[in-house]
Amino acid sequence: MAFLQGIAASNGIAIAKAYRLVEPDLSFEQIKVGDSAAEVDRFRSAMEKAKSELEVIRDRAAVELGADKAAIFEAHLLVLSDPELNNPIEDKIKSENVNAEAALKETADMFVMMFEQMDNEYMKERAADIRDVTKRVLSHLLGVQLPNPSMINEEVIIVAEDLTPSDTAQLNRQFVKGFTTNIGGRTSHSAIMARSLEIPAVVGTKSATEEINNGDLIIVDGLKGEVHINPTPELVDEYRSVHEQYEMQKAEWAKLVNEPTVSADGVHVELAANIGTPNDLKGVIENGGEGVGLYRTEFLYMGRDQLPTEEEQFEAYKAVLEGMSGKPVVVRTLDIGGDKELPYLDLPKEMNPFLGFRAIRLCLEEQDLFRTQLRALLRASSYGNLKIMFPMIATLDEFRQAKAILEEEKQKLISEGQKIAEQIELGIMVEIPSTAILADQFAKEVDFFSIGTNDLIQYTMAADRMNQRVSYLYQPYSPSILRLVKMVIDAAHAEGKWAGMCGEMAGDETAIPVLLGLGLDEFSMSASSILKARSLIKGLKKAEMEKLAQEVLNMQTTDQAVQAINAAIK
Ligand code: PEP
Ligand code: MG
Repeated sequence: MAFLQGIAASNGIAIAKAYRLVEPDLSFEQIKVGDSAAEVDRFRSAMEKAKSELEVIRDRAAVELGADKAAIFEAHLLVLSDPELNNPIEDKIKSENVNAEAALKETADMFVMMFEQMDNEYMKERAADIRDVTKRVLSHLLGVQLPNPSMINEEVIIVAEDLTPSDTAQLNRQFVKGFTTNIGGRTSHSAIMARSLEIPAVVGTKSATEEINNGDLIIVDGLKGEVHINPTPELVDEYRSVHEQYEMQKAEWAKLVNEPTVSADGVHVELAANIGTPNDLKGVIENGGEGVGLYRTEFLYMGRDQLPTEEEQFEAYKAVLEGMSGKPVVVRTLDIGGDKELPYLDLPKEMNPFLGFRAIRLCLEEQDLFRTQLRALLRASSYGNLKIMFPMIATLDEFRQAKAILEEEKQKLISEGQKIAEQIELGIMVEIPSTAILADQFAKEVDFFSIGTNDLIQYTMAADRMNQRVSYLYQPYSPSILRLVKMVIDAAHAEGKWAGMCGEMAGDETAIPVLLGLGLDEFSMSASSILKARSLIKGLKKAEMEKLAQEVLNMQTTDQAVQAINAAIK
């Protein structure tokens, strides 16, 4: 039995077999073969196996993940049966007497290079298809297995180096009971997705992929951040009872589902949910969300090979607005960059992607993409209570430019006779220190703020949110962070505006008392945290939390702050 300590990323206990989502070693030696006819047969047989495998994957993807995901595998099948690729491979085996692995790799690499150099999106995508197909055929030649997450048909826990948001989006919730990764922190997007899918997760274990084999029984303890590998039957029993207790506690919180969030001295605050896709709405409603405080629209753009059309986006936004039946829905415009990549945009690699060409910076430059999203949003606005916010705003000028573009699209749509809501609040995320510091000036022009502490903390502390070695600097209770939060809330209130928070800090039990005391109006969190937060706030008096906040703001260290908070809420 082995044990790994990581970071608790999503609450709950999962016990299941491990499924490694790890690329196997596909290296090989180039060798001369004696019987080239037999080698051609070996190549053909690997191609056949790859083909049957892809057909099964495609059919399963069509049923479970939808036609657009299945289309990716259809494209791979087309590549497999293309004589333009297969004939030169067979010719090479015959004329040069090389092994099939070498003939395949060399020929495929030549096509990939040729297609990638073309200034044509379609051909670039074909290069990616050839690369994927080559890997699959190579795996059959070498007799190793590629992971096929869409083929999972039993309960598993995913083990991976990291999970990209698009990997996470493709996981089948019915079978994936939990996950654990080598890298990442509480605010990495894999962790955020795990919380919205309500799957227990432990990230940042450093060595999960080295220690865990396919099929090992593992326990993921998302409450304490522990992973147990091949546990004793006694430990499994112990964990089954922890799991039951946790479920009972959840049932207690569930009684608050239809209640407003009111403190013990009668102050109402709004508890909203963070969502990634319209499918997350079910969780918001089941957990009594009073609105959507952050709709991360970038997930609409991921796990596919081209931009979503205006129509597709319109349908998604409309579904969310209608699904929330008039409750507020804050939609954030595209925040791509950092750990959220869109391979098909083909953006150059950057040294510091979190500090680079991302989010609003990209949208102001690539205006076609931005305008399409804004049009879809404006058209959807008449179906509910839409509020729009821009991510990663660093200067007032950026906000003004984005607002002007929105206004232009609005006027165009009005002149086309489209129906648009009379009032759409327009806000910004405060996640860059410059904006928090200048909040008093921003507050004159925006309708609301939503504090994005995941980024605000990483930029204030200069500590990459993906790097577990500096994760100790993710300190939401640091007086420095709390002072910035106070500046933003006070600035909003001075102009009669509201301030919310949609970073993970908003759902953090230790932070909530102080945030209530600082006067935060809206707390937006993973849907699975809402009922627990409501239960906590019902037991707190805002007037007392104001005093606590004042005390904590004047402390020197995070430890002192945590001690004071724990003492106050006992
Ligand atoms: C944040 O930065 O706090 C935030 C909510 O945005 P994201 O986590 O998507 O970067
Ligand atoms: Mg952010």
